[in-house]
Amino acid sequence: MDLGIAGKWALVCGSSKGLGLGCAQALVQEGVNVMMVARGAEQLQASASKLIASYADSTGASVLFCAQDITTEAGRAAVFAMRPDFDIVVTNAGGPPTGDFRDWDREDWIQAVDANMLTPIDLIKATVDGMAQRGFGRIVNITSSSVKAPIDVLGLSNGARSGLTGFVAGVARSGLAAQGVTINNLLPGVFDTDRIKTVLQGNAKKTGQTVEALADARRKTIPARRFGNIEEFGAICAFLCSVQAGYINGQNVLADGGAYPGTY
Ligand code: NAP
Repeated sequence: MDLGIAGKWALVCGSSKGLGLGCAQALVQEGVNVMMVARGAEQLQASASKLIASYADSTGASVLFCAQDITTEAGRAAVFAMRPDFDIVVTNAGGPPTGDFRDWDREDWIQAVDANMLTPIDLIKATVDGMAQRGFGRIVNITSSSVKAPIDVLGLSNGARSGLTGFVAGVARSGLAAQGVTINNLLPGVFDTDRIKTVLQGNAKKTGQTVEALADARRKTIPARRFGNIEEFGAICAFLCSVQAGYINGQNVLADGGAYPGTY
């Protein structure tokens, strides 16, 4: 299926690896010009170069990169100084640490809310009016299945991402929708990325079990009996950014291999 977005410009945050890279790759494969952002310049440049080598010639897409911390005002200003307008924005940054809520102080909460709620809101604010003027726009926020089914050790994520979800529910249904701008959240369950490896390594240290034993036990809790991969996540993101997805708006799209146990 031709997604109808070749030649558009996308900002994909947190895209040197993991889910963000999956989204950047899927968009470049569709001929979308992509600006990739992450803090670590070396990995970012390597990932951008790989996308250029693999897809730029065949699709005509341009790939730019900007090594910045997207959760800071200075980082976002540097990105918009390189390119002020985007037709597609995928918001994403590292998730907050796991832990016990009794150990978190105000500063921990401010950091989580800043990274996982206020940064996406700021990126939406900076881009949607331009999208509306041009009559087309797609925002996809990478959040987490923890928004639908909270995970006790991820209280910072459960809380901050729920704040973003509530905001998006309102703004997606504002006048922007009639001007061709959709805003959706994409909720990963367990995907095979460095983030999940770090979480499993932390659990292995705590419990004395091996990482592989813990990963196996985790897979058994998922009806698909496997972790997701970044290519399938990127493909869902690209579809949400497509022309065909223009009537999908204000939704929380769960990709978790069936792990969420609810009927609705
Ligand atoms: P990952 O493999 O660790 O990749 C994170 C990416 O974001 C990297 O490119 C990283 O590069 C970049 N990044 C992190 N903080 C950033 C910042 N402040 N500014 C700019 N770039 C930043 O993680 P992932 O698994 O793809 O997860 C992505 C998001 O989905 C996270 O919020 C995570 O909590 C959430 N999530 C993941 C899963 C899963 O199973 N993987 C499940 C639920 C939710 P630098 O470190 O160089 O900046």
